[in-house]
Amino acid sequence: MSDTVVQGVKGKDLLSDGEMTKTVSDLKFVDELNVFTSCQSKACNKKMPYVLNCKVITCPSCGTSRRFAFEKSEITAQLCAEIDGRGIWFRAFNNMQKLLLKVNLTMQAKSHEITEALLGLENTSLCYDTKSHFIKDIID
Ligand SMILES: [Zn+2]
Repeated sequence: MSDTVVQGVKGKDLLSDGEMTKTVSDLKFVDELNVFTSCQSKACNKKMPYVLNCKVITCPSCGTSRRFAFEKSEITAQLCAEIDGRGIWFRAFNNMQKLLLKVNLTMQAKSHEITEALLGLENTSLCYDTKSHFIKDIID
């Protein structure tokens, strides 16, 4: 994210309580789409790459192997949408799953399928933090 983007949010946006909901006609860009899981060893707890169709995964940091648990996966992405004529980058964490529901996909879909589906979304209402640009919720 560049300084220009941060400067884009000013005036009455900064006077808000730090949260704003806007409906965007579509998403302009999707970047840094990342599906991952975390090592379940409490001593480690590092992010691990997500391998499709793999029953057992081994943590590259501590070497612990375990059965793959789909529900322990997480997804993040950077999304760019035009708001008031300006392209603004947002960071989405677990609420990405709500977006995936809207396009009838799960994290098990291939990343290019997820990207394509997200770019096809129309009229999405994003609730976001006006300072950090973290997406707090997707409103149906
Ligand atoms: Zn580990």
